[in-house]
Amino acid sequence: MKAAVFYSARDVRVEDVDAPSTIGPREVLVRPLWCGICGTDLHEYAAGPIVTPVSPHPLNGSTIPQILGHEFSAEVVEVGPQVSSVRVGDRVTAMPLLFDGECFYCRRGLNHLCVRMACVGLSYGWGGLAEFAVLPESTLTVLPDEVSDLQGALVEPGAVAAYGVDTGHVAPGDVVLITGAGPIGALASLYASSLGAQVFVSEVNANRRQLVRGFGVAEVLDPTTIDVPAFLKDLRQGIGVDAVIECSGNERALQTALASVRSAGRVVQTGLHTRPASIDPMVLSEHDITLAGTWCYPVTDFPRIVGLISAGRYPVEKVVSAQIPIEDIVSQGFDTLLDPAGSQTKVLVNARG
Ligand SMILES: [Zn+2]
Repeated sequence: MKAAVFYSARDVRVEDVDAPSTIGPREVLVRPLWCGICGTDLHEYAAGPIVTPVSPHPLNGSTIPQILGHEFSAEVVEVGPQVSSVRVGDRVTAMPLLFDGECFYCRRGLNHLCVRMACVGLSYGWGGLAEFAVLPESTLTVLPDEVSDLQGALVEPGAVAAYGVDTGHVAPGDVVLITGAGPIGALASLYASSLGAQVFVSEVNANRRQLVRGFGVAEVLDPTTIDVPAFLKDLRQGIGVDAVIECSGNERALQTALASVRSAGRVVQTGLHTRPASIDPMVLSEHDITLAGTWCYPVTDFPRIVGLISAGRYPVEKVVSAQIPIEDIVSQGFDTLLDPAGSQTKVLVNARG
């Protein structure tokens, strides 16, 4: 079967690999439909291996070369004898986090923080950027007819964005700033708006500003021409916003977040910083500000996200900026997304070949 396989930095190959030949009693063979390229995949491509294992992964023994893809919709092709929650022909989305169920965090229901966490498409035998994959039944959520194949591939990043906004305790009527309009920031703007918040988005890239402006759910600001904290404070008689969801992983954006939030407000660090950032922690004390981080999402959240999409409340498909065949994944996927002036936000790959 055809698959996009990570070998090392700048070395992702679309090649023929052996298709799965057996499935376990509680496993499911699926045919991926659409699969997104994630920031984590980009980091692996640019500078990896980072999270892809170079020695056998403690949870499942996987090592590079690794079939990529952890944001995908799929069709069920075959089920193991003990599988009861999905049937052949069902369309599904996969919650890709794999955990041991036994560690300190797993025993407290915090499975996304498992000390032996692995992930489909990063540290597992299979991934969504291939013609077939084998997945544990427990990872699958069936997509109702109202949710398209394309939307099904956006449940995973949709859950990341939702967890960030939820951690900001965003309530109807709140004023929220989202810094960064990459895929997660763009999705966070849709989700915060669906909660009834007034949403502002700050983004330096003109193409990304234009995409989010087109959603019609947020006022979009250019931080290179506007003093964002001053603008937002002016808007509310010097108070500032109720919550900021920092989705860029950029030092200046984090500083903007802390300067824009009101006293007793919340700043959530959802974007991943790749180097240390300098902040003035005195602001946290003086203004009773909560600075929180989020990692992935609660592993139980996918049915809820699918429900929101199904109800038309969370139009995740709006963040898609390109749909490409798997053969073009390096030139039109990875290389295009790494271009800082690039025009792409979320590229979805057709893995069917
Ligand atoms: Zn665990």
